[in-house]
Amino acid sequence: MLEIKNLSVDFHTDGGIVHAVQNVNLSMGEGEIRGLVGESGSGKSVTSMTILQLLGTRRARISSGEILFEGKNLLELSSKEMGTVRGREIGLVSQNALSALDPSFTVGAQLVEVIRRHQNVSKQEAKDQALDTFRLVAMPDPEQKLRAYQHQLSGGQRQRVVIAMALAGRPRLLLADEPTTALDATVQKQILDLLLEINQKLGTGILMVTHDFGVVSHLCQTVTVMRKGRIVEDGPAHAMLTAPEHPYTQSLINSVPKLDLEDSMRSVPRAERRLHVFEEISA
Ligand code: ADP
Ligand code: MG
Repeated sequence: MLEIKNLSVDFHTDGGIVHAVQNVNLSMGEGEIRGLVGESGSGKSVTSMTILQLLGTRRARISSGEILFEGKNLLELSSKEMGTVRGREIGLVSQNALSALDPSFTVGAQLVEVIRRHQNVSKQEAKDQALDTFRLVAMPDPEQKLRAYQHQLSGGQRQRVVIAMALAGRPRLLLADEPTTALDATVQKQILDLLLEINQKLGTGILMVTHDFGVVSHLCQTVTVMRKGRIVEDGPAHAMLTAPEHPYTQSLINSVPKLDLEDSMRSVPRAERRLHVFEEISA
């Protein structure tokens, strides 16, 4: 589905050239959940924002590489073509729900607007879809919440709105950049479970950008580890969590409390994983 080949991205700053991403290769199959992991500044966000061409600065230069999505090189698309990829084929879940939402409109109005941007549907049809999408993201009291403003929602509910907006165009791939970092541990787990459920129900692939191997153990099937703009290790999540090869990967894994890693059994094939989740609930 997604194949990043030999990607390098530089920033031309007043202080010189920053090589933010160097010769990165990363591939994802249909419906795969891949972790993109590394400490702050390692080039994770630049890599994921380059996929959507949302680097947001003229100082950024893609100095090499291709980003193939379903066979087409995204780096060669016009901005108009890229506009239809964003949201409709690849959705973005950002870390900070507050900056993604507009305080002056209800969250329902914002969701309806996104749905109508992606699909040529009537206002009523868009409203019906908004309600369906709120149900999909397990929003409590979904009808009432559509009429709420962001300040009336909890942090976890706001992140559910952001995920609903990312799903509005029914993309095949979600880029989730530290989507739970701002949340406390219990809510973080709920949001990760929601992303898993969406993956299972809709088959949406997820590129999960995180600094936290606890998140990886909860959710990811495969992992790419980055350090200082380069990939240091890549492979199945379970193997990496139990036997990391690179010392940097080892140190990232060692920094996560042991209990949090016990969820790593979830990184097994889908059918089995569903069973594990079920057993936990009934236990
Ligand atoms: P991560 O998401 O892994 O924390 P980033 O991808 O945001 O890291 O950043 C990678 C590197 O690129 C860092 O060294 C960062 O300082 C640099 N960088 C990111 N954005 C810019 C920018 N707009 N201008 C200059 N340097 C940037
Ligand atoms: Mg980042």
